Amino acid sequence: MNLKEKIRVIPDFPEKGIRFKDITTLLQDAGSFHHAIDELADYVRGRQADVIVGPEARGFVIAAPLAYALGKGFVPVRKKGKLPAETVSMGYELEYGKDILEMHKDAIRPGQRVVIADDLLATGGTTLTAIKLVEKLGGIVVGVAFLIELTYLNGREKLSGYDVLSLVQY
Ligand code: IMP
Repeated sequence: MNLKEKIRVIPDFPEKGIRFKDITTLLQDAGSFHHAIDELADYVRGRQADVIVGPEARGFVIAAPLAYALGKGFVPVRKKGKLPAETVSMGYELEYGKDILEMHKDAIRPGQRVVIADDLLATGGTTLTAIKLVEKLGGIVVGVAFLIELTYLNGREKLSGYDVLSLVQY
């Protein structure tokens, strides 16, 4: 099945010069969505993960069905101020300015094997921040899985030392 042909590329969104990879067209196609989650699940099975972590918001759409398909737990990473219980936080640089990501302190137990799943690997900043949060809680990041990888942004280099899978590359 060709997943790439189900991804819609929108020129000049959200700003001029950016070719935005729109996964909604893949998600709305039942067969493609199912196939994508199955492919990612095969990878995660090989990594023997206990927990699947997904950053908001599009990461939820990948990580939660993945966790369900594998019979594992799902843990959200959220922007500052969204999680109700005690959290750990980590700041990260964006193209313009800074942001903070958080996880619940009791979401991961020390020694648990964690896979982080997201829709898209760009510069790797989001994923690296999620990795740091998981490691702060004592989790072991055994893999990172993406639907899409923008290879020209070299996110994989930022994640060197971690096992990275992507299903579709640009
Ligand atoms: P990074 O932190 O630079 O790797 O950016 C990754 C995040 O940016 C992901 O969580 C994506 O949701 C989002 N993102 C960046 N570019 C695109 C795109 O072309 N389509 C969809 N999401 C994108």
